[in-house]
Amino acid sequence: MTAKIISTLPKNDDSCGWLKQLPPRIAQPALSGKQHADWVVLGAGFTGLAAARQLALLHPQARIVVLEAERAGEGSSARNSGFLVDSTLNEGHYSAAGLELYRRKYEIKRAGVLAVQQLVTDLGINCDFESNGKIHCTAVKSHEKKILNFSKLLTELKLSHKILAGEELQQRLGSSYYRMGLWTEGGVMLQPAKLARGMIEKLPQQVELFENSPVINWRKLSNSAGYQLSTPEGQLSCEKLIVAVNGFMTNCGVKPNRSFSLTLTASMTRPLTDEEDDAIGRPEPWGVLSAQSMGATVRLTKDRRILMRNTAEVWPKLNMSASDLELRKAKHLNGIKRRFPQLGDDIIESSWSGTICLSGNNANVFSELENGMFAAGCYNASGIGLGVLFGAEIANLASGKMSDEIRMIQTNSNPMLLPPQPFLGWGVGLRLLRDRFFARHEQ
Ligand SMILES: Cc1cc2nc3c(=O)[nH]c(=O)nc-3n(C[C@H](O)[C@H](O)[C@H](O)COP(=O)(O)OP(=O)(O)OC[C@H]3O[C@@H](n4cnc5c(N)ncnc54)[C@H](O)[C@@H]3O)c2cc1C
Repeated sequence: MTAKIISTLPKNDDSCGWLKQLPPRIAQPALSGKQHADWVVLGAGFTGLAAARQLALLHPQARIVVLEAERAGEGSSARNSGFLVDSTLNEGHYSAAGLELYRRKYEIKRAGVLAVQQLVTDLGINCDFESNGKIHCTAVKSHEKKILNFSKLLTELKLSHKILAGEELQQRLGSSYYRMGLWTEGGVMLQPAKLARGMIEKLPQQVELFENSPVINWRKLSNSAGYQLSTPEGQLSCEKLIVAVNGFMTNCGVKPNRSFSLTLTASMTRPLTDEEDDAIGRPEPWGVLSAQSMGATVRLTKDRRILMRNTAEVWPKLNMSASDLELRKAKHLNGIKRRFPQLGDDIIESSWSGTICLSGNNANVFSELENGMFAAGCYNASGIGLGVLFGAEIANLASGKMSDEIRMIQTNSNPMLLPPQPFLGWGVGLRLLRDRFFARHEQ
């Protein structure tokens, strides 16, 4: 492809509960006029910010520009549930070949966890980083087998974990909703908006960030000397381009037939009062993932809020309006009340939407698309660690610097071919319906 007009652009609302906890920040100016840079990074989420940082370390004399459609770091990077994970339950494989495949994917995710840990330590970012593991839970007897199989898999991989049930599980969560849980030692809970904000504030001075600058089209320059990107008020040419837009990847012309986007919505409560906290037994903060695809992701945060994410949909415009969100909020409240019937109906403080990018075989996008144009993304909802890792490594790859991490990432960077639209949309929609049915007691 030599050119692309981008019609679907991000449009963030102001209601994300994580972002509301941050002090206000003045956005950098929008791109204006005609300009040239050595490097352009498209998108200022975890991937783009990590890429820009690494480029600055590698090319101290170069002009490095980041273009962001909205405010930097306020897309999905700030809007996720904050689970930084190495192992995922839904990938359980039990044959020797399957185990090896799982191990490889695990190692990539583990490298992502370490990359975030290193970044947070090096830059002194306070993002409420809590390395207390995560818990996979089920409320349905027939799903207990999944948890037990996952335990077998983790045992094979020698990964520390523990089955929780009965009183122990109830006390750990402050809820009697779940029948069985599996705690894994690997797994960090963090405040994603704080991490993204920290990455923006600690960007090397050499990196120029333009916000509210949606790229509405790009084209390859005819003399094959790079790319030109247009925003409503400016034009920027560059030698090399890194596309880091994840959920908006197919709209930008990247791997349109190998990945697809879903829109997720979440809600967060106000902090529990002392009485409410007493009523649930004052458990330590926790993060729960469902044993069933499309089941709820739930957190009790350090500041005693409950986060509920139990919706995922094919949504053509990707971002949702306030009225669309109201409907999802009712589902979130229902999910909270199922787990904590003692809480009131007016407890939700904020609801928001965000996008994720998936492939059909759980593979990621990480490659040079054509001469001088690179892309990283499609993290299958594990983009905190993978975004930070892949961002830095795509900058290495684009700079001709090989690393062990690149070799490892490349073992899982071939997303399978998907059916064309509208068949893809219909197929994904049907699959979500099916998963939602099986997860109806886990939402
Ligand atoms: C509700 C929800 C819960 C999630 N939970 C988790 C979780 O618990 N753990 C986890 O690891 N992951 C989770 N994810 C996924 C995770 O948030 C993403 O994988 C991650 O944000 C990807 O980072 P990124 O930088 O690649 O993309 P993004 O954060 O989406 O950043 C891309 C940026 O590109 C910009 N952009 C897009 N198009 C253009 C354009 N044309 N011009 C200029 N800029 C553009 C966007 O505005 C955005 O800022 C969740 C996502 C959602 C929505």
